Amino acid sequence: MSDSWDYSVFWDETINQIRQRIDVQEYNMWFSRMLYTRAEQDLIIVSVPSSFYRDQVRQRYLSEIEGTLQELSGSTIHIDFDINKTVSSTFSIDKNKSELKSAQIPEAQNGFGFSLSSDESKVLKRDHHKLGHSEQTAILTKSERHPLLNPDYTFENYVIGQNNSFAANAAMAIVRDPGTAYNPFLIYGGVGLGKTHLIQAIGNYIHLNMPEKKIIYVQMESFTNEFIHAIREQKTHIFKTKYRNVDILLIDDIHFIQGKNETQEELFYTFNALYENKKQLVFTCDRPVAEIKDLTDRLRSRFERGLNVDLQPPSYETRFAILNKKIEAWGIDIPEESLNIICNNITTNIRDLEKALTKLKAYVELVSKDITPEITKQQLKDFFSVTSKKNITVDLIMREVATYFNLTAQDLKNKKRTQSVAFPRQIAMYIARDITEYSTTEIGTEFGGRDHSTVMHGCQKIADVMKTDPTIEPIVSELIRKIKQEGSRS
Ligand code: ADP
Ligand code: MG
Repeated sequence: MSDSWDYSVFWDETINQIRQRIDVQEYNMWFSRMLYTRAEQDLIIVSVPSSFYRDQVRQRYLSEIEGTLQELSGSTIHIDFDINKTVSSTFSIDKNKSELKSAQIPEAQNGFGFSLSSDESKVLKRDHHKLGHSEQTAILTKSERHPLLNPDYTFENYVIGQNNSFAANAAMAIVRDPGTAYNPFLIYGGVGLGKTHLIQAIGNYIHLNMPEKKIIYVQMESFTNEFIHAIREQKTHIFKTKYRNVDILLIDDIHFIQGKNETQEELFYTFNALYENKKQLVFTCDRPVAEIKDLTDRLRSRFERGLNVDLQPPSYETRFAILNKKIEAWGIDIPEESLNIICNNITTNIRDLEKALTKLKAYVELVSKDITPEITKQQLKDFFSVTSKKNITVDLIMREVATYFNLTAQDLKNKKRTQSVAFPRQIAMYIARDITEYSTTEIGTEFGGRDHSTVMHGCQKIADVMKTDPTIEPIVSELIRKIKQEGSRS
């Protein structure tokens, strides 16, 4: 969302709500020919077929549309009309039919910008008559859905095991009485362990059971981009209104804020405004808050104020339960032996488990229902190794180690031998030797063309230091964990 604004969820929902308020004929007359085309900050551009049509819509509905948008988004979004004579008429709301009717209708002379042939009038009447049941159900299911949340991320779909029960129970306590129990609530843990699922489950539950609560779910990255954009356009007041007027603010992946000073300041004030009004705040992070670098102390203390709970990698039993739940939901049959093989080989996280299962599912559907242990191993062979080694390069290791020590990867490649560079360089060499298959010669080449004996010496040095200095081993382990995590992400 860095440069383009997407308000289509708000637009769709606005149209949906208005559809429920007005007569169906009126709806079809005016709304079926408005087409969301694009957006800018605070602005949606809608295509309509003629200037007459635009003026009519403005006069009749503009304030209602903008009012609904304001309600949904928490900020003022204006509408601008773009005249596009090819906007087709879709009298039927039924998707299949509108496809049939997507022919271009020229602007006619009747002032409405379009003419109704007698056939179309019949379609209009017939559809109006038929609308009844299915249309209403469609509206119902759609309006139950929160436009910013994935409807599959629910508590019902979340398998609870030892690795996540603390976090899941806290989340379920929060939704019973948002803003009071644990505020803020922060979930942290590595990639693919279920942070996004859990934070969205909170949103989905509250949306369904307390529909009057205004909920915003946003990725930290989008929040940041939106804010930068608001500054550039001198519209920060709108940004503030949007985020300070919610009941539930869910921000995913807050580690992204590291080093972004202005966004940190803005989030700090947003936090205070909501917190003082007992609004619920939930965050996720890929590491403990203490490990986010370049974070102001005051924001750090806000994040740490409520309850911080981590998600651990799932145990064998939980992995098995998750796979079972998935195949049940998909309605496919995969023998227990195969599930065992997956559980034994994929221990990292749930996203990787899902990827493996998806591949087997495709095999069942496209090739054969008879899955044997041999087929399982053969089909998932690459996958099992990919998750461990393939994506970890010396370059990735240098970058992560350098970042940790406030250096650049180039510093590690350079010839400089001061202790402040030499030690991190040796740690990076040690890790490269430990977790990749590269030879010391290959590693030396990556480190600015050093000799293999230099690499061996560096590795030995770190191995020795770790035996005598107890503070080094945790740093190395943490770096290895992060590197593996980054590697599995690419
Ligand atoms: P994260 O945000 O921590 O990287 P996600 O929430 O995106 O991880 O989870 C990755 C995938 O694993 C998602 O499809 C999610 O539904 C699934 N998943 C994670 N935890 C569980 C769980 N406890 N039960 C069922 N599915 C889970
Ligand atoms: Mg996530």
